[in-house]
Amino acid sequence: MEKLRTVRGVHDLLPNELHKHNVVINAGLDISDKYNYSQIETPIFEFSEVFTKPLGKSSDIVTKENYIFKDRSEDELMLRPEGTSGVVRAFLNAGLVQDVPQRFSYYGPMFRYERPQKGRLRQFKQLGIECLGLSSSMADIEVISLGHDFLNKLGVLDQIHLTINTLGDFESRQKYRNALINYLEDYKAKLSEDSIRRLSINPLRILDSKDHEDQKIIQNAPNILDFLNFESKTRFEETCKGLDHLNIKYNIDKNLVRGLDYYCHTAFEFVTNKLGSQGTVLAGGRYDGLSKMLGGSDISGVGWAAGIERLALMISSEFVNETDVVLMGQAESYNYLLLPIMKKLILEGIKSEIIYTGNFSKKFKRANKIKASYAIILGKEEINKKIFKFKDLTSGFEELLNLDQIIKKLKN
Ligand code: ATP
Ligand code: MG
Repeated sequence: MEKLRTVRGVHDLLPNELHKHNVVINAGLDISDKYNYSQIETPIFEFSEVFTKPLGKSSDIVTKENYIFKDRSEDELMLRPEGTSGVVRAFLNAGLVQDVPQRFSYYGPMFRYERPQKGRLRQFKQLGIECLGLSSSMADIEVISLGHDFLNKLGVLDQIHLTINTLGDFESRQKYRNALINYLEDYKAKLSEDSIRRLSINPLRILDSKDHEDQKIIQNAPNILDFLNFESKTRFEETCKGLDHLNIKYNIDKNLVRGLDYYCHTAFEFVTNKLGSQGTVLAGGRYDGLSKMLGGSDISGVGWAAGIERLALMISSEFVNETDVVLMGQAESYNYLLLPIMKKLILEGIKSEIIYTGNFSKKFKRANKIKASYAIILGKEEINKKIFKFKDLTSGFEELLNLDQIIKKLKN
């Protein structure tokens, strides 16, 4: 039989793997809730402009990773590549501008057309948080702290380090941008194709290049920290001080950037060396310019997104499916009688399965396979007496009981 394939970089999630995803997601939602971030959900596809408008001139570079399509009404739509734009759009549409701060958490699938590898997929899940309407560096510290607690909760913090940097305000970044272009122009012949293209449109993104030659050149590039004006410098110091105060360890990496125009000030990444080049498990920063680029008012924002698949690769939690009780009848015609019994057990919160087919030997094999603790066995003699054989599958001990007695035992 020829199998129907899934699309490259798009995977099924069988119970074992999905279990790990859910462990990650639940930990993230739970800690976000404690920090008073409320869960929000935005559409998986939107008009393309929600994602392209904020990109400005660099949009051609970024959209090559995007899934864009026209629907039957000729509307240009995009499968969301990230969560922040949708959340800010939703915030603006809901008229929450006057009602800040707003703190949101979200999770769900994202779509990017890139080269699939371990920890890099075309459909993947992110969990993220956004803090809107707070321009103070306290918010930056808060979101980093939330990310830190999230990773701690997952028990992976000892394999992860935090790197931070600042992009400064617009003025500082403009000055830096010019200096960077000046410096890189001298190496133009050696830069990768992508980087040459970025040189005029989006030079900061070059600092993020994964190309080896590029990286050598970048080593000696001008340092953004030397171009910060007083306000930007003070703000960065405040942020670092806040992290020190919380005993959160970090390195400053002058080449850590976010390429897009709406980013400013704090940028950070939690990175592991356990996952090869897909080591960034959680990344974020401040995006005060985003709301305006989406056509809204000037609302500051800071947040992060974490890659669920990458974190799931780091945790060891195993999926175990244990069954409280199995029901089996001596003859197949007894299955009808077992159905209402199972229904009653389930309503009592008891995890149950009727084993419909096979002889007793096969049925007990199945019970063993699904790790059942007890069996309810309906035999010919018991039917009229409304009693059952109740067997403890660990000890092998059997007794005859009515349903109420069984439920009582199972609930103990
Ligand atoms: P990378 O440098 O690894 O491509 P990025 O800068 O594109 O990451 P962000 O847009 O900041 O990533 O997304 C936040 C997080 O989402 C990443 O740190 C990563 O954990 C995860 N992520 C991003 N792209 C993918 C992908 N294609 N597959 C799986 N996880 C991803
Ligand atoms: Mg990427």
